[in-house]
Amino acid sequence: MTFSSNFRQFEYFSWPNAAEIAKTEGSTLVWPFGALEQHGPHLPLATDSFFAEQILKEVFKKLPESFPIWMLPTQSLGFSPEHSSFPGTISLPANLLLQLVMEVGSQISAMGFKRLLFFNAHGGQIGLLQAAARELKMRCPSMSVLPCFLWSGVPSLQKLISSDEQKEDLHAGFVETSLMLSLAPELVGSERPKDGEHSSLESDSTPPKGWSLEGAAPCSWLTNEISVTGVIGDSGKANTLLGEQIRGELVDRWVYLFSSLMESDWPPVGPC
Ligand SMILES: [Zn+2]
Repeated sequence: MTFSSNFRQFEYFSWPNAAEIAKTEGSTLVWPFGALEQHGPHLPLATDSFFAEQILKEVFKKLPESFPIWMLPTQSLGFSPEHSSFPGTISLPANLLLQLVMEVGSQISAMGFKRLLFFNAHGGQIGLLQAAARELKMRCPSMSVLPCFLWSGVPSLQKLISSDEQKEDLHAGFVETSLMLSLAPELVGSERPKDGEHSSLESDSTPPKGWSLEGAAPCSWLTNEISVTGVIGDSGKANTLLGEQIRGELVDRWVYLFSSLMESDWPPVGPC
């Protein structure tokens, strides 16, 4: 059985088709995760959902038609308490998102799917989805669960974004602004704030040596403690060319990762 690359969306199958694809050897569902949260004065609330869905669609177009892999509808409400003081942000409590993942994942496993991959584009819920994946794996041991983050595991991005820039450009900065300029310039406003931990005049918003918001020695943070505009980074450095290069690296890497996954039996599934 081969599957047309433009028929990769689970919700467009009939129930007999859904039953058939679930039982296919190596059947894999990819669940895009985003958030509805402030992204500065110039980017849409749905930026993370949009990235997850658009990059995934481009990746799917490049995969061989024979791969048994499909996408679920995007989970567009996420866990974003750090942005909740900004209007427009709608965040689910952590336990509700965890419960949602368990419920949906259990039903997918019961249908017979072999793998469920989370394709998440919101940095604030990486840990939560990793915990949810382990809980789900415990409840449904016959299904593999792979909690992936769009921006992780793409080493070639270092050619475009230095490690210092990666640490400082965390939210709605030049990286996300550039990618959105490439994908949907009509959704990008004209303002380009530079804001966040290192740009504030207040010295206590600059972390001491060795510490940072994320990374090896992190802290929990609320956006309004370090940014007036909602941006953490320098959106002024954004440009369309960089966005196209970032987009190309993301798509190529995820095509590579999905291809090697689909050509393998990874990860191992033990006795149930
Ligand atoms: Zn974002």
